[in-house]
Amino acid sequence: MSTALVWLRRDLRLADQPALRAAAAAAERVVPLYVHAPGEADPAPGAASQWWRHHSLAALQAALAAAGSRLHLAHGPTVAALQHWARACGAETVYATAVAEPEAERTAREAAAALAEDGVALRVLPDGLLTDPHAARNRSGGMYRAFTPFWRTVRAQLDPPLPAPSPHLPPPGPTPEPEPLAALGLLPRVRWDRKLEPLWQPGAHGAERRLEAFLPAGAAAYGEARDYPGQAGTSALSAHLHFGELSVRRLWHALADAAEQGAAAAESVEAFRAELGWREFAHHLLAQEPRLHERPVDRRFAAFPWREDPDGRLLAAWQRGETGIPLVDAGMRELWATGWLHNRARMVVGSFLVKNLRLPWQHGEAFFRDTLVDWDRASNSMGWQWVAGCGADAAPYFRVFNPVRQGERFDPDGDYVRRWVPELAGLPKQWIHQPWAAPADARRRSGVTLGRDYPEPVVDLRESREAALAAFRSLSGTS
Ligand code: FAD
Repeated sequence: MSTALVWLRRDLRLADQPALRAAAAAAERVVPLYVHAPGEADPAPGAASQWWRHHSLAALQAALAAAGSRLHLAHGPTVAALQHWARACGAETVYATAVAEPEAERTAREAAAALAEDGVALRVLPDGLLTDPHAARNRSGGMYRAFTPFWRTVRAQLDPPLPAPSPHLPPPGPTPEPEPLAALGLLPRVRWDRKLEPLWQPGAHGAERRLEAFLPAGAAAYGEARDYPGQAGTSALSAHLHFGELSVRRLWHALADAAEQGAAAAESVEAFRAELGWREFAHHLLAQEPRLHERPVDRRFAAFPWREDPDGRLLAAWQRGETGIPLVDAGMRELWATGWLHNRARMVVGSFLVKNLRLPWQHGEAFFRDTLVDWDRASNSMGWQWVAGCGADAAPYFRVFNPVRQGERFDPDGDYVRRWVPELAGLPKQWIHQPWAAPADARRRSGVTLGRDYPEPVVDLRESREAALAAFRSLSGTS
């Protein structure tokens, strides 16, 4: 009997899953295997991401069992585990989908070589992205360093295939005893994660439910609503996409359907697709800059005069949402409470860390890595470099987000701040984004004493902005 091993990676679903489909078409026995080897990724995923992975694997376990199959779990190192399982199951072929990260690509190459020694073929199929992140080239043959020309070229050529249904999976047959899910140690020892449980449903079923809740009305309103952190104007599909619980082709075509049925304006759908384009671009950039999470693309920024924060007081205030700047604190508290943050809030809290506090963007990258359920190496690294002004296609450093103006514009009634910073809830909307500027009696009537109920700002916004611009000018070649 022919046997295929399916090495599951960032493709934790059954529908439109190229590796499972190819294996089911080719072999009489299909053995789905997930190898846990967190140390092989550098940087390794943080706690919130691992929480999601645990539940995503549990969901996949249930889905495979319902389909008459079984998920097998093993500890890494990956190459040794694949070799062991291929031998133990008598597999002739290992099927997998690509993960567009430098170490993951190296692991796949090493696995291919090791398996080949046993006469086993590794077939890695494209998935996860709409394009090959290594492929796009500009007119002079180079890779793109800016989003707009990248997306113009890539978008014009995009024609993703229609999503395929779940395959009929042949049973795995006799296999070695797999590890229990709990043995992977993905859940935190201190169970802070309970707060995430009512908010998210990791796994393909949860992804479909969120997609259905978003489409078509969400796509229709997206062009307008996506900018307001207090509204559910975006899809919140990022973690599902990261773990491959939702095929990006399925999402692409679901958007096309919404547009074709007239349920969403073409411009709104295109705006959403452009966000998927940013996801593609992040991977295109990572393919050029393997240390994107720590090394500034604009190398001048390696010499940036960051502020000293010897006791970590400023960083801790930012992490805890106690900076005294309401929109920043609302964002950081939302992140801590939910493991997710609206894109605008990511930009605002990021700009405040890097420009007003003048702390290294790598601190922000690392904190997001640990706390975001949707942490994605390419998107997070690109996002931080964009915010810091040192990325390939970054906001210029001198464009400093003013969190008061951002609040007045994108949280005009202050609802977002009231939700996450309840101690300010009584302030009228004209002061909600700058309580320090409110007349003392307005604060008193609202029950807010600065320094007691809510912190004084840790920095003066105007002065810190000037200091950041001066620091930027000190870099050679920036004036
Ligand atoms: P939607 O607006 O519904 O967009 C749909 C999908 O498009 C998203 O799910 C996501 O996959 C993709 N997308 C949207 N915006 C971007 C973007 N700017 N860059 C790349 N992909 C995008 N996104 C992550 O998935 N993981 C991260 O770790 C991450 N870190 C970030 C850090 C910073 C500092 C910044 C500024 C942005 C970061 N982003 C990250 C991008 C973006 O904020 C999130 O993808 C988005 O907020 C997720 O919410 P959503 O699913 O509702 O997005």
